[in-house]
Amino acid sequence: MLRQIQRYSTAAPKRVAVVGSGPAAFYTAHHLFKSGANVAVDFYERLPAPFGLLRYGVAPDHPEVKNCEEYLDNLMDNHGDRVRFFGNTEIGSDVSLLALRQAYHGVVLSYGCTLGDNLLGVEGENLKGVVSARQFVNWYNSHPDFADWTPPDLSKISNVTIVGNGNVALDVARVLLASPKHWLPTDISPRCVDALAASIVSNVAIVARRGLMQLAFSNKEIRELLEVSKAEGIHFEIDQALLEAAKPATRVEKRRVATLTKYVGINAGAPRQWSLDYCLSPKRFIALAENPQAVAETEFEVNEVVDGKVVPTGATVRRPNELVITLIGYRGSAIDLELEMVGNHLSHVRGRVAVGGAEIPGLYCSGWIKTGPQGVIATTMMDSFDTADQILADLASGVCPEPSTDVPMPANAVDWAQWQKLNQYELETGAAKEKTRLKVDNFPQMLEVAK
Ligand code: FAD
Ligand code: NAP
Repeated sequence: MLRQIQRYSTAAPKRVAVVGSGPAAFYTAHHLFKSGANVAVDFYERLPAPFGLLRYGVAPDHPEVKNCEEYLDNLMDNHGDRVRFFGNTEIGSDVSLLALRQAYHGVVLSYGCTLGDNLLGVEGENLKGVVSARQFVNWYNSHPDFADWTPPDLSKISNVTIVGNGNVALDVARVLLASPKHWLPTDISPRCVDALAASIVSNVAIVARRGLMQLAFSNKEIRELLEVSKAEGIHFEIDQALLEAAKPATRVEKRRVATLTKYVGINAGAPRQWSLDYCLSPKRFIALAENPQAVAETEFEVNEVVDGKVVPTGATVRRPNELVITLIGYRGSAIDLELEMVGNHLSHVRGRVAVGGAEIPGLYCSGWIKTGPQGVIATTMMDSFDTADQILADLASGVCPEPSTDVPMPANAVDWAQWQKLNQYELETGAAKEKTRLKVDNFPQMLEVAK
């Protein structure tokens, strides 16, 4: 492919550092360049590989979602040394945020919300067998932070509870329910395919604390899971009375109820089943006397939903489960003491990072660390464009401080050419096994292949 180098002003460009290389990072940078502004952008990414949740979140059987990775590829191809990539470089430890701020006119924090989990805060949450979505998703997506992590042995587990009703819950249910054949050609971790091949999971309950009208997943994703169940001979259940009592108001809600009604009861009598269960909040996770370390049951509080809010009825139910996966959202955190969090996102005013209500000149945020851990890629893109517009306005008005130093080159940084070596290696080793890609799942080997 021809390298298309843009014509630039001979004046020194305004320097912008972007922390992260997921969708928020590259959409923010794309918008800066698209405006025609005289800028140079450096990406700092803590992992040796770029793309954030596109690589380590999006389900392996949704490769089309990853097409937007070409935005970053194009930035690297089309802007010469105006765009640089420093992988394997964590801001906050390898390079301080202060050092970055002193070296750039603008610093954009686009580091997402993937460093921690939201917790339920109930008894037994630390029992073996209670795991978070982030752990499970990182495991099946070969995240190098999770090279040594394995979920409980699926060859010994019949009943799984998934807590939460978002799209990630449906991704995880699909991983547990679809056959290894479905996953083999994808870039899913081979460790996961092996675990699925040995799995005896026969009952997956997706449990929500609120009702059918408050669920967070989208119609396309639920239809996909229902289609997989139909094709693979798995029984699907949802309380029929709940469906009949539902009062869908919007077109989306009406379609959702119609879809669930169409598939309810499919493959009745099959040995494997899954269900959508509503108005249940985990109250405690329980181990049995014979194995006091491992979860065996969940006690749920039974709720009513009043004006969209959870109201406990006082009743409880207990269900057997040897594996519980909590999918109640990822958690955002500060990477520097200087930063202020509001819940799961940074304190900011329209993308300008703020502390104690005062905006910090030249410091910005975009994506999940700006909004909290919610929103599909299209939402993240629009949000990132908005932050980029604020940066452009500040660069033009002279609000941003002049850089006073350079950042010392991080010692073990992985540059773009090195990432491409790793990329090529993964594609080739994947192709040899008829997979779209075989990800290298640990830091030492990623660095060895890249160098
Ligand atoms: P991220 O994608 O998380 O990128 C943040 C980047 O910053 C990462 O590469 C991280 O390594 C890096 N980083 C973190 N800390 C530092 C640091 N200190 N220094 C340097 N770098 C750092 N949306 C869809 O539209 N379709 C889907 O199918 C879909 N599937 C999803 C599946 C899962 C499991 C999840 C959790 C989300 C999914 N989403 C999907 C949502 C989508 O992934 C997000 O909207 C999007 O990735 C958010 O982008 P981001 O750049 O803000 O964060
Ligand atoms: P989400 O959509 O915000 O769903 C979180 C779920 O957790 C909700 O059902 C929520 O219920 C529940 N929850 C939160 N706190 C809880 C608690 N204390 N107890 C019980 N339940 C609790 O989050 P997500 O599934 O992690 O997805 C994140 C974003 O990525 C979403 O925007 C999603 O659409 C996107 N995504 C998209 C795709 C796709 O397009 N294919 C795939 C994956 C993810 P309440 O509503 O009651 O709070």
